[in-house]
Amino acid sequence: MITTKQSRRTFVRRATVSALGFPFVSSLTSAALAADEPRKLGFALVGLGGLSTGQIAPALLKTQHCRLVGIVTGTPSKIPVWKERYHLADKDVYNYETMGQMANNPDIDVVYVVTPNALHAEHCLKAAQAGKHVLCEKPMETSVEKCEQIISAVKKAGKKLAVGYRCQFDPNHLECRRLAQEKVFGDLKMIEGGFSRTISATEWRVKKVLAGGGPLMDVGIYALQTCRFVSGAEPIEVSAKYGPVNDPVKFAEVEASVSWEMTFPGGLKTTCRTNYDKGGENNFQVTAEKGAFGLNPAYNYNSSRGTRSDGQAINLPGVNQFTAEMDDFAQCIKNNQTSKVSGEEGLRDVRIMLAIYESARTGKPVKLA
Ligand code: NAD
Repeated sequence: MITTKQSRRTFVRRATVSALGFPFVSSLTSAALAADEPRKLGFALVGLGGLSTGQIAPALLKTQHCRLVGIVTGTPSKIPVWKERYHLADKDVYNYETMGQMANNPDIDVVYVVTPNALHAEHCLKAAQAGKHVLCEKPMETSVEKCEQIISAVKKAGKKLAVGYRCQFDPNHLECRRLAQEKVFGDLKMIEGGFSRTISATEWRVKKVLAGGGPLMDVGIYALQTCRFVSGAEPIEVSAKYGPVNDPVKFAEVEASVSWEMTFPGGLKTTCRTNYDKGGENNFQVTAEKGAFGLNPAYNYNSSRGTRSDGQAINLPGVNQFTAEMDDFAQCIKNNQTSKVSGEEGLRDVRIMLAIYESARTGKPVKLA
């Protein structure tokens, strides 16, 4: 059967050949066919900080299905640099007050929100109201209510929503999930690990109103995600405790460290840690009935690797996780599918993190629905 697309390509090819003669055929035919290629989805980045500058914008250049067509910034001095580097015009540049005008820019399909955690809802809602698909960095927000607002605003706009869980696109994380799901070492018994970093006292990350919490919301969320992603199960109870605070000025508003245990149906237990004061942890280890496996380092952008107790390495070639994440979202949009890193997935983690805080505050275990 000849599809409409095939007949159009054939028509373009024949028309070019007969109109222009042989010597020009191949280059002009390529140009005509290139124009016939599927359109890449236009992304606008909201917030041009460390992650957008260092990872997301460069990763966009490597995508198959996306291109950078817009920026939203509150810092005018960044504009000329971004315009030059990414070939943007004045019409592609917005600030936080004007971003609603993206509604009039048909080049922008997706808005990627990369601002401090507690601003995600505000910026995701503006994007949805402008009629755009939304990709929101983790954590999705800092309260269940705000996550629900994002989900319902995007739904109301008839658009798609995804959360920036880059590790779900990492081949070595996927391999660990396969080992668990196929029970290669039997039923899972324990997952243990952590992700920590140090920060400066001047970052928004130490301000509760912008961050929502400390290292748990920022990097501990990766350890939490691993427990859920690898096991494919949801915890039924959490218990947690805060660690000591050595710098009470820096950590006046958010925790310096927290450790937590989760119980899953079937008896799987997990124990995780995260801190902002020492850093240094970046791994997980899964213990099953007949063996163990894990990654160390686990959460680097491009270089996770690990081992299995049978001596085999877990060391699949890395991918650019952001490229994979954005291409996957573009494919979900084109094929009208729900992303595996959906808004509901983001909401689940926020619910659990708030239960972890409640348990650390009260000293009692918290049951999860
Ligand atoms: P950053 O501080 O480097 O950048 C934040 C950006 O938000 C800046 O451009 C800043 O100007 C802008 N901004 C807008 N309003 C602001 C306000 N009121 N206060 C402070 N900044 C404001 O932070 P980042 O590291 O790029 O993190 C941004 C988001 O990305 C966070 O939600 C974070 O959790 C997430 N993140 C994800 C990853 C990942 O691997 N997926 C890595 C780092 C950060």
